[in-house]
Amino acid sequence: MRMKEDHMKNGQLKPAYNWQLSTNDQFILNYSIHQTTTDTVVLKEHTEDFYKLYEQYPEKCTADAGYGSEENYEYLEDKGIEAFVKFNYFHKEQKKKWRLDPSKVNNLHYSEDKDCLYCPMGQEMSFVGTKTRKTKNNYTQTYQRYQAKNCQGCPMRGSCFKGKGNRTVEISKKLTKYKQTARDKLLSDEGVEKRKQRPADVEAVFGQIKNNEKFKRFLLRGKEKVEIEIGLVSIAHNIAKLARI
Ligand code: SF4
Repeated sequence: MRMKEDHMKNGQLKPAYNWQLSTNDQFILNYSIHQTTTDTVVLKEHTEDFYKLYEQYPEKCTADAGYGSEENYEYLEDKGIEAFVKFNYFHKEQKKKWRLDPSKVNNLHYSEDKDCLYCPMGQEMSFVGTKTRKTKNNYTQTYQRYQAKNCQGCPMRGSCFKGKGNRTVEISKKLTKYKQTARDKLLSDEGVEKRKQRPADVEAVFGQIKNNEKFKRFLLRGKEKVEIEIGLVSIAHNIAKLARI
């Protein structure tokens, strides 16, 4: 992985684990380690691990944009967990510049009646087929493809898109709906509170362990041993926190 601690300043790769923590009021409720750099694909495994420990799923889950995928939204919905999970451009879309950018697919209006998108010039973009992609967890995501008709000579060409031919875009209707639900939740009063709480909760725990306690490197080698080491660190963290209270 590329690490934040990059003393040579050359983005060198170092052996590392992806360490996931669930916290509540800065107490560690669950931990897991993964051999992948991507947070998106580990939420399910981490939450199932939580279930094994407590025989119940959490009622609510707050997570940052690294976890906002169709697969995760669907999983959380299936398990009855209320999701306050950002998606990748949640903060950017709050800005006027983003909302007025004609190149952003999410700014194109969709008509459910006609099953078409409207391009920035107001022309219909017709449905031209579907495409599927599999995630690392073997989850199949289906995208609908829409194509514009008369891009040749359009005055918006360049700001709208730079490719050849007519503009074609792909959207996942399912993900779009999940994002709308997530957006509504994140912008609600409770969502604003959850967004404030998240860094003060889980990030503070990482900060305490890594910076204040100077635990920056595992002493043991191998996933099994490292899991035990993290377990001990977590227990120590919780006891110290309890003692401070
Ligand atoms: S370039 Fe094509 S898709 Fe973009 S605004 Fe013009 S006609 Fe519409």
